Amino acid sequence: MIKMNRKYRKTIIAGNWKMNLLPSDVRSYGDKLKRMAAKIKWCDIAVCPPSVMLPAAIKVFNDSRIGVGAQNICDQAKGAYTGENSAAQIRDLGVKYVIIGHSERRQYYGETDISVNLKAKAAVKNGLIPIICVGESLDQREMGITIEQIRIQTKIALFGIPADKMRKIVIAYEPIWAIGTGKTAAAEEANEVCEEIRKLLRAQYGARTARSVSILYGGSMNEANASDLLAQPDIDGGLVGGASLDPEKFHAIILAANQ
Ligand code: PEP
Repeated sequence: MIKMNRKYRKTIIAGNWKMNLLPSDVRSYGDKLKRMAAKIKWCDIAVCPPSVMLPAAIKVFNDSRIGVGAQNICDQAKGAYTGENSAAQIRDLGVKYVIIGHSERRQYYGETDISVNLKAKAAVKNGLIPIICVGESLDQREMGITIEQIRIQTKIALFGIPADKMRKIVIAYEPIWAIGTGKTAAAEEANEVCEEIRKLLRAQYGARTARSVSILYGGSMNEANASDLLAQPDIDGGLVGGASLDPEKFHAIILAANQ
């Protein structure tokens, strides 16, 4: 089954390694994934290692269609920000994507909707494709304010980003309660939220732009549940944490997305 919406937008599977693996693991991981994914046609693939491993990943994936992504950038352009990496520095390495506003960064490193917006704009300005993460907590879901939360996060993240840049923006719906927990949102439920995000994009940017934006699902996606999630009309791919650490499991998800 080739998804109809591929006419309008890309299917993308991005692996978020978080703070796992070592620089010396990148070559063997990359060689395995490149071999397995050589014939993948309908799905863009990205691997997002820790920033210290980006040069090694760029080197390994240089001769493939697999893109490399960072997990974070600084919200400022340059200067006295010890320990940070700017969008320009990350882009200069040859990196294509950057994850912005992952819930772990919001939770542990004080990222706010405002800093997510600054980072998204810095990414766009420097030619990086931001994968902007939005998602509700379990409390918010139980209070029945999932859609309100997602709308606020998405609207603020995109503030000041014009329609002509939206083709180079990816949004990832990641319910916080599903990340790293083994609990996945039901496919239809996840699709409903992704559909709401697209409705918001339509209201803000018009139908043509809205249908060109890839919206990913993230939260315990694995080889067993990927097909169901990816068959949904408004889910255009996955942001995959744990299951991306093993190239074989990651490849199984890529295969599901390539259908
Ligand atoms: C993530 O890190 O974005 C993620 C969805 O993690 P996991 O797949 O492990 O839940």
